[in-house]
Amino acid sequence: MTEDVKIYLNGEFVGRDKARVSVFDQGILFGDGVFEGIRAYNSRVFKCAEHVDRLFQGAKALCLDIPMDKAQTIQIVTETCRVNGVRDGYIRLVVTRGIGDLGLLPLPAPAPTVFCIAASLTLYPMETYEKGMQVITAARRRNTAGCLDPQVKSLNYLNNILAKLEAHHAGAQEALMLNGEGLVTECAGDNVFIIKDGEILTPPVHLGILNGITRRTVIRLARDMGMSVRETEFTLFNVYGADECFLTGTAAEVAPVRLVDHRIIGNGGPGPVTRKIGSAFREYAQSHGTPIFPEE
Ligand code: PMP
Repeated sequence: MTEDVKIYLNGEFVGRDKARVSVFDQGILFGDGVFEGIRAYNSRVFKCAEHVDRLFQGAKALCLDIPMDKAQTIQIVTETCRVNGVRDGYIRLVVTRGIGDLGLLPLPAPAPTVFCIAASLTLYPMETYEKGMQVITAARRRNTAGCLDPQVKSLNYLNNILAKLEAHHAGAQEALMLNGEGLVTECAGDNVFIIKDGEILTPPVHLGILNGITRRTVIRLARDMGMSVRETEFTLFNVYGADECFLTGTAAEVAPVRLVDHRIIGNGGPGPVTRKIGSAFREYAQSHGTPIFPEE
């Protein structure tokens, strides 16, 4: 990130030094808030309305009133890109419950803290896409919807961070997470797909996953190409025996998986279906989204 980066914070653009939040902010004290990771491709914010919609749905689930409407939120995202001259990059949009007073009960409701950062992105290395990534299964289970619904992209990401650390400690890049019944849910920061006998399978949202925007895009693109996609429950047995496996996420895009728990998936490299979906996604992302410089 450049030194002269301008960060949107509560209605104004401030320099890096002034981009600070209070130690009494509920987001810091309790992870009480929601966030989005968004991409800009080719001077457009990819699926901006969908990200903003997910942010609002998550906030609603937390009884957190975002102090603006969705159109204004989209404006904040595009303006942050514009002000920073970002045409291709990664955007972090965050809403916390705001400044509280150390107690758990957020009443009377404080004024939420809103900030947005547009930066360049550190992707997985190119090798990951050429050879496929190594994934392990985390011992830690995914939060259940009954505790903290993974559909809420909340600032409380410890479940995911601890799983990601398990992967790192095992020399892997991502961690597959199971629910309480041992069914595959998603990875620490990505959704998961497997391919068996020409059919693309991915866990349904009700198992306890983030309804990923890349996931939804990939499902639609695959169906548009005439491929069969089914949202269904499966176990690690099905992952190990799959012909192909790939992960999806805003940062990862479509990332092939080579190894899961030291089992080689299919032929070990990115398979034909994964390649086809990966290139369809990259092509689609280049030409769809909210323009950052609408006058161009
Ligand atoms: N699952 C989790 C837990 C995530 O944090 C993310 C986003 N990094 C995803 C899936 C992928 O979602 P999206 O495609 O919307 O980025």
